[in-house]
Amino acid sequence: MAPTVAVVGGGISGLAACYHLTRGPHPPKVLLLEASARLGGWLQSTRAADGAVFEHGPRGIRPGGAAGADTLHMVSELGLAGAVLPVPGDHPASRNRFLYVAGALHKLPSGLGALLRPVPPFSRALLWSGLRDLLAPAGTEPDESIHAFALRRFGREVADIAVDSVCRGVFAGDCRALSVRSCFPLLFQAERRRRSVLLGLALGSAERRGGGGGNAHRRGAESGLSRRARAERWSQWSLRGGMETLPEALAEFLRERGVELRCHQRLRSLRRCHDGRWELTLADGTVTADHVVSALPAAALAAALPAEAAALAQELRRIPAVSVAVVNLQYEGVALPVTGFGHLVPSSEDGALLGIVYDSVAFPEHNGAAAASLRLTVMLGGAWFQQSFGDPATAAPEPLLHRAQAAVREQLGLEAAPTRSIVRVHQACIPQYTLGHWQRTERIGRFLAEHRLPLSLIGASYSGVSVNDCIASAKAAVERLLGPRS
Ligand SMILES: Cc1cc2nc3c(=O)[nH]c(=O)nc-3n(C[C@H](O)[C@H](O)[C@H](O)COP(=O)(O)OP(=O)(O)OC[C@H]3O[C@@H](n4cnc5c(N)ncnc54)[C@H](O)[C@@H]3O)c2cc1C
Repeated sequence: MAPTVAVVGGGISGLAACYHLTRGPHPPKVLLLEASARLGGWLQSTRAADGAVFEHGPRGIRPGGAAGADTLHMVSELGLAGAVLPVPGDHPASRNRFLYVAGALHKLPSGLGALLRPVPPFSRALLWSGLRDLLAPAGTEPDESIHAFALRRFGREVADIAVDSVCRGVFAGDCRALSVRSCFPLLFQAERRRRSVLLGLALGSAERRGGGGGNAHRRGAESGLSRRARAERWSQWSLRGGMETLPEALAEFLRERGVELRCHQRLRSLRRCHDGRWELTLADGTVTADHVVSALPAAALAAALPAEAAALAQELRRIPAVSVAVVNLQYEGVALPVTGFGHLVPSSEDGALLGIVYDSVAFPEHNGAAAASLRLTVMLGGAWFQQSFGDPATAAPEPLLHRAQAAVREQLGLEAAPTRSIVRVHQACIPQYTLGHWQRTERIGRFLAEHRLPLSLIGASYSGVSVNDCIASAKAAVERLLGPRS
């Protein structure tokens, strides 16, 4: 009889694990257990009656690298190639990103001119930061905060303004607490290997172009989409019906292949039986499985582990996550003062306000019937949620909506009231790889190996929070379990 693999957690990581488990010869019996009423986790899109789409979670996926190519390959296989909405390299949403500093919007510098002369909000030409990186000695610590790393290599302004803002945009996190080794491994390795981040990145990409470096530099699965993405230099892509189209298509694909997809099945506890199999206790009964793939947030898995795995649970609990309020706004008859992807706000300017995404610039197809409407998403909170808005479990939507509208008025000069608004508070939605995260993940790996636990850990808590990273973690775990898939 084929062994049974239970995948716990029906976000993109769990669904991608099921997808890879069903590929190749002799697939195991696969069972997906999801606590909530729906599949997709943070991939959530509201589709309005007039065709407008509002994203409450991820809104763009990057096509680059092996993981980006693998995701596009999966998208092709799911029959979604025709639904992909690309943002090509010459599009304003690819070229223009802004910072809101000292009460004004500033385009993030690009091109030679910005390197050679000071461009606000920076008081010195960025050339000086580049020279500093080329001349400074390499760091020797096994890990460092992103802020300390950027300060040492590029100077205070780059660390306080640019790097601080980018960490708020990507992780909703504080660059003074986050680990450079775990959040930006390429930058960390570049410095360690070549003494300079810029030199290391330049030589690394030359090696990749030359095909050197073996597996670490593999390109990912080729598809018509990945070839187009390279030719047109896509910066990101979405799907016509919104990001939630991806978990919906995965669920359909999996059902057709006999995967049992069960919602309303919260995992309460895990227990090893005498024969080595797992017994999973759910809200209303138990199931047994030969192997468990956990696609749960680290803290949720910790809560379900048996007493014998207390040391593992302790490590998992040390991986925190921050909450974000996502406020979608739609306006009619107004225009943005600038055009681009959106703007980020450094923590020194306003801790609570992470940034504003100009959704209708990148994806006007999501405007619906009111093609001239403007859709924005205001991101609030992150590592500053508690101090700004109190307990995310009880945060009321009205103050968050007012805060978001005030930001749009102050920072974008849009005085009109929105015609539509949606407020979502996502609790503990983005894991934080704080200083020493690499040691925690190493200890977790060691525990699983030493105890020969038939348990794989995948998802955003461990080795990358992007959708691509989550899918890649699922693929890697399945390959470790069953060997390379077709
Ligand atoms: C607001 C926001 C914006 C983002 N923007 C982007 C972006 O633009 N691009 C990008 O690439 N990434 C983005 N990300 C990151 C990315 O979306 C997430 O990291 C990714 O979706 C996480 O997927 P996951 O499957 O690992 O976890 P989750 O989506 O958290 O899925 C875990 C699942 O487990 C279930 N679960 C929990 N406990 C139990 C239990 N005990 N038993 C059973 N099931 C349980 C949950 O209900 C959930 O469905 C964003 C994230 C957020 C929150």
